[in-house]
Amino acid sequence: RFITFEGTEGVGKSTQLETAAATLEGLGIDYMVTREPGGTPMAESIREMLLATREEPVHETTELLLMFAARSQHLYNRILPALSAGKWVLCDRFTDATFAYQGGGRGVSRERIALLENLVQGDLRPDHVILLDAPVETGMARARKRGELDRFEQEALAFFQRIRDAYLERATEMPGRYHVVNAALPLEQVTESVSALLSALSKL
Ligand code: C5P
Repeated sequence: RFITFEGTEGVGKSTQLETAAATLEGLGIDYMVTREPGGTPMAESIREMLLATREEPVHETTELLLMFAARSQHLYNRILPALSAGKWVLCDRFTDATFAYQGGGRGVSRERIALLENLVQGDLRPDHVILLDAPVETGMARARKRGELDRFEQEALAFFQRIRDAYLERATEMPGRYHVVNAALPLEQVTESVSALLSALSKL
């Protein structure tokens, strides 16, 4: 199974990935945890390039191509081998994040993203997407508390609102694949929902 975790800033993705791994451990399931952009040394270098603050404006097409370059490397060198070995792969973001961030956030057309998705992934899509959803203000406040907002603070709230909307729209379009978890609830309840979901998936 290929399961991805998605959501906007500060929704608690990292925490949920950690507890999800513990849940799979408890269920006796062999798994691998990884993240995007990144997951291999080369893809992590591309991540650093993508996240660096720079004077030079980054064209949206450049960003898109770098995302998919990192993804291709990650997919062929780590994700597919793990899936072939029978492991469950838990991935912190994947192509749904591109549809949300580069698509909803930066306005790249879906068609362009879908073109690269097909080129890089062929038919491969995550089996399940766990979308941790919370109002943008909630996530922003949490990220600010962790001192993580420097990179985003100059970006408008509206940008993150568009990203959240894009995720929610995809969730509506793909109800079989998307599992929306209310991440605005207290942590224990979010963790409980994710654990229950993984247990249910393990029985399919
Ligand atoms: O998942 P995480 O929050 O660590 O991702 C780091 C940052 O990379 C995100 O905050 C987001 O701004 C950016 N990102 C992006 N487009 C993606 C995936 C991540 O802009 N497709």
